[in-house]
Amino acid sequence: MQKLTDGFFTFTGLMVGRVYCTEDADGGLTIIDASIASAAPKIERQLHKAGRAPTDVKRIIVTHAHPDHIGGLPALHKLTGAQVICSHIERDYVEGKAAIPLPPKSSLRFPDTLMAATPRLQTGTLVSRVVADGDVLEDVFGGLEVLHTPGHSPGHISLWQPQRRILITGDVAMHMPWGVRLPFAAFTLEMDEDRRSLTRIAGLGAELVCFGHGRPLRSKDAAKLPDAARKRGLPA
Ligand SMILES: [Zn+2]
Repeated sequence: MQKLTDGFFTFTGLMVGRVYCTEDADGGLTIIDASIASAAPKIERQLHKAGRAPTDVKRIIVTHAHPDHIGGLPALHKLTGAQVICSHIERDYVEGKAAIPLPPKSSLRFPDTLMAATPRLQTGTLVSRVVADGDVLEDVFGGLEVLHTPGHSPGHISLWQPQRRILITGDVAMHMPWGVRLPFAAFTLEMDEDRRSLTRIAGLGAELVCFGHGRPLRSKDAAKLPDAARKRGLPA
């Protein structure tokens, strides 16, 4: 676990998808997103190394139900027994009752067509609590606000800690080695809607921006976020 700031960490060495961890006032931990299946044992090892037991994880928040964010969820849920929290819109996808909608291949332009995927059911995990825009998770990280940020997926949520000005974007934008960009078109249902979501969260004035993919942006670098709304996911 790498410390980002007091009480806030990211797990390291995961193949795809960032997983964050908060230390909460009740002494428990909250994990945000679950990466792919191979991440669960790595997360377990890093928790132990930090002197914590998997059962210290009381809550797992899912930003959206794409396989690189919930692939590790069944194993993590089993290890921790934590509550699973997601948007009410994303619930059926997290529980494996419906396949998450993806844009049809015919709507994509090259080179996005190369990444096109077919929606399919995923191994479901029971959701314990659903949230909506404006809800505050009082027990998480001193009060974590839920922002409904649709576009990449219908029930996508971002998370905002207003006192500490920390933003967890999910996949509204990605931090690629060449800069902050909109997410890949092949996995984004409504790009214009995602752009509006990005404009909304870029206006928050975050001092630490944590993405679903890529390294976090700090202080003045966080001001780069609004620029991303104009750019596509792949380099020109
Ligand atoms: Zn995604």
